[in-house]
Amino acid sequence: MIGPDPDIAPDPTAIAENVERVFNNIADAGGSPESVQLIAVTKGFGPEMVAAAHAAGLVDLGESYVQEFEAKRIDASVQAIEPELRWHFIGRLQTNKVRSLADVDVELIHSVDRTSLVKELAKRKPGQRVLIQVNIGEEEQKGGCSFDDVDGLVARARDSGLAVAGLMGVARLADDDDTRRQFDHLVAVADRHELVIRSIGMSGDLGIAVRAGSNMIRVGTAIFGPRPPR
Ligand SMILES: *Cc1c(COP(=O)(O)O)cnc(C)c1O
Repeated sequence: MIGPDPDIAPDPTAIAENVERVFNNIADAGGSPESVQLIAVTKGFGPEMVAAAHAAGLVDLGESYVQEFEAKRIDASVQAIEPELRWHFIGRLQTNKVRSLADVDVELIHSVDRTSLVKELAKRKPGQRVLIQVNIGEEEQKGGCSFDDVDGLVARARDSGLAVAGLMGVARLADDDDTRRQFDHLVAVADRHELVIRSIGMSGDLGIAVRAGSNMIRVGTAIFGPRPPR
């Protein structure tokens, strides 16, 4: 860290406008703030962006990297508002990093995608609410289990005492019809398991996701602007 970059200091007016635009996009797709929960993803930014999100009325915050998450949480500006925040962990979670989350109150971990992670979470965070992440775009480099593995992983997570609340997916870059098919597939599997939460849709595809039945979207860029390079 070389100190705050003035170019990425939060702009409250722009953030408020962006949030309104996202809500309009949700409405255009037939959703509402009640039916679609908005998770604000501040990854790549500093703690000041968490405070800015909170100031814009957003209390569900998505984090992708354990270390960055820890650094934000200990910041005084975040500490002051933390009781009002709900943390969502949405990034790839290494088994050896679970311990760092043990004492953190995490509303939902979206990225559970393998047995070793289920086991570690069951041990360190018994009863944790989780989503099973599915690699809906079937991309080798992406997180998520295959569609074939969903049944087994849901069963294992439940057997080990985790509270499985739904499924999460990140679509591969594709045309709208293809993106829609990826989301439809996830929704169908969630239905089959009677899993309520479908965490699908990001800045670039949230309208398609809401049309497909998303009830939780994870949005970064469309609210906070382009992320600084890591
Ligand atoms: C970064 C990230 C997002 C937000 O992406 P944007 O395109 O900036 O909206 C959502 N979900 C996951 C899993 C991410 O890693």
